[in-house]
Amino acid sequence: MVQDFLELGLSTQILNAVAELGFEKPTPVQGTVIPKLLAEDGDIVCLAQTGTGKTAAFGLPALEYLDLKNPQTQVLVLCPTRELCRQISQDLENYSKYLEGIRIVSVYGGANISGQMKDLKRGAHIIVATPGRLLDLLKREAADISAITTLILDEADEMLNMGFKDELDAILAQAPEQRRSLLFSATLPKEVEDIARSYMKNPEVVTVGQRNAGSENVEHYYYMVKEDDRYAALKRIADYNPDIYAIVFCKTREQTQKIADALQKDGYDADALHGDLSQAQRDHVMERFKRRALHMLVATDVAARGIDVNDLTHVINYNLPQEIELYTHRSGRTGRADKKGVSVAIINQRERGKIRKIESVIKKQFTRLPVPGAREICERQLAHLIDGINSVEVREDIYSFMPMINELWDGISREELVKKILSYEFNRFFDYYRKAKDLNIAEKEKKGRGRMSDDNESGVTSGDNAGTKERKANDGDPGVCEKGYIWLRLNMGYRNRVIPRDIISIMKACGIGKKAVGKIEIFNEFLYVALKKDVAEYAKSQLNGATYDRRRLTASLLRQG
Ligand code: AMP
Repeated sequence: MVQDFLELGLSTQILNAVAELGFEKPTPVQGTVIPKLLAEDGDIVCLAQTGTGKTAAFGLPALEYLDLKNPQTQVLVLCPTRELCRQISQDLENYSKYLEGIRIVSVYGGANISGQMKDLKRGAHIIVATPGRLLDLLKREAADISAITTLILDEADEMLNMGFKDELDAILAQAPEQRRSLLFSATLPKEVEDIARSYMKNPEVVTVGQRNAGSENVEHYYYMVKEDDRYAALKRIADYNPDIYAIVFCKTREQTQKIADALQKDGYDADALHGDLSQAQRDHVMERFKRRALHMLVATDVAARGIDVNDLTHVINYNLPQEIELYTHRSGRTGRADKKGVSVAIINQRERGKIRKIESVIKKQFTRLPVPGAREICERQLAHLIDGINSVEVREDIYSFMPMINELWDGISREELVKKILSYEFNRFFDYYRKAKDLNIAEKEKKGRGRMSDDNESGVTSGDNAGTKERKANDGDPGVCEKGYIWLRLNMGYRNRVIPRDIISIMKACGIGKKAVGKIEIFNEFLYVALKKDVAEYAKSQLNGATYDRRRLTASLLRQG
């Protein structure tokens, strides 16, 4: 894999444009694919996730092949959605900034066809198209692909998922035999293999990153609530993360609109993106999201394809998708460009199985998080507000008003003033959360589970991927302890966001290995950890009075029988 743009074999014009975009070194897919495309002739199937830089991987070499003196269409890029279409053409425009006379035309459904016909008539060295619209234009003889030398199928799995098989067949049948074909796909289901077999010549398969793997930088969490509390949980997630910048994925267009409307009504900067919107509406929504006038974009999978936003704080699965591959696509929208990403799912009690299936495919584990409660949310919001006040620039403009301000606030103490200012901003939250209930629900305990596995690195319950099986929503009785063990009770729990892994670390810190730790039961305010009898007293003495996460611990032993 080539590590430096200068070594890739690209021309100066393109290198300059890339440098201006701030690309310092090729991404792995670029370092692998670009030299192949420039030096060799064969077809390539490239398995790469979204957000890996694949547009430049195929786009930069495609630009190098172009004969700009020849007005015919030489490169055809097919992709599943209009957003992606527009994104790819924009990227190609950027890369070809110094290629004089180049014409790149994008054609996609949902926009006026006559405008696109006019654009094509003026000439297009490169056409970027969605399959349905291109086929339409080919039938009208407004587009001509008979001279293409390079065909690129981007997000091929998604094009097939969206039912473009017939259109692809019809288009590919019209493309000239003598061409190079490149296929990019996040996954390689049978349908994509069929396309590669039928329309490509002995393609080399290049896998960049792990096939089907979730992005390395993404952490996966889930919140488990009653079905009826899904929306309330979404609001809590948003409130707990005052700087949220997220895509919220929903199942259907109707649900997408409903959730976006509800969020707006509840005062959030949110809007919907789905296929029922006109192109102008979609553009408006995307423009607002990109400039962060919207903090949450509620979208269907299809509509969110091709959205190029790098700094998402969260991907939120309001519902888990039917197909696991879609989960990979969704979570791949965060954790881009070496940033940490967070993908969360809101699930009901019956959906634990889905989480397990996803874990086995993406080879990563989910952690269950408690839905934040009223106090935690109010603390976070207040801290955010105070941070904002602390970091605000005090402009000179305010000085001339100070005498008036001092007069209006005459006689009010500093403490009183702080309370008033914060309450002015914050009473809305206090009102909403005053009666907020605990949205968390307990997991069903399975018989014979719950014992700490000795060979489990993370110290989570054997077979339980998230390590949270032991959580209970309410404080209560931990039940009978295993033989040879004794319950040690600690004054922290679910509320303090502890998970079994933390408890194993705490025990380790006081010299108690995993083998001496048994079952763990976590309640809201307390937790119980079963310890081998011979270490229990020692653990208690070590833990009593110690601090953990700025909390002074009290430990006691619960003798049973
Ligand atoms: P893509 O997978 O093509 O959608 O690219 C994902 C994002 O990465 C886009 O915002 C690109 O502009 C950006 N990108 C692509 N290549 C590079 C690179 N070599 N260095 C930094 N950013 C890049």
